[in-house]
Amino acid sequence: MPDRAVELAKNIKLLVLDVDGVLTDGGLYYDDHGLAMKRFHVLDGLGIKMAQAVGLEIGVITGLNQKPVEARINELGVSRYIAGTHDKITFFKEMCAQVGVSPSQTAFMGDDLLDFAPMKAAGLAMAVPNAVPEIIETADWVSTRQGGQGAVREAVDFILDARGLKAEATKKWVI
Ligand SMILES: [Mg+2]
Repeated sequence: MPDRAVELAKNIKLLVLDVDGVLTDGGLYYDDHGLAMKRFHVLDGLGIKMAQAVGLEIGVITGLNQKPVEARINELGVSRYIAGTHDKITFFKEMCAQVGVSPSQTAFMGDDLLDFAPMKAAGLAMAVPNAVPEIIETADWVSTRQGGQGAVREAVDFILDARGLKAEATKKWVI
């Protein structure tokens, strides 16, 4: 991993995530009744729990507002959740203020153009390899795993490693 990204990650207290293409593979599934379905990866779920356990705050900001996402977010105990906005930068800054951190102490992980502004404002811009080129270019760090395939777990591991919190986070689940 680039040393610069490790240095930036050492300051990160809040990780804000996009949903579609980051926590999911970007697929929009609909049933016969027109109800949306999403596929989340279990590795990301434990990653979020690990982050929360050692005080790395997690936030989620998504352009769509869909019930299955809300259900997964609630299941993971993520209280900082903004849905249905295209103005991610405004809510990103608000979230930073609510947590009591500056944008430079915050990482934003995205895949598409709506994520560009908060990624530019964040101290650590993180992307998935399935992101559009503009997002890859602006990223300080790109995961190996695809969105919806454990990319968020990889991002959490990266930040916790850089902050020296990985062992503490891991031991809670290694019995
Ligand atoms: Mg997205």
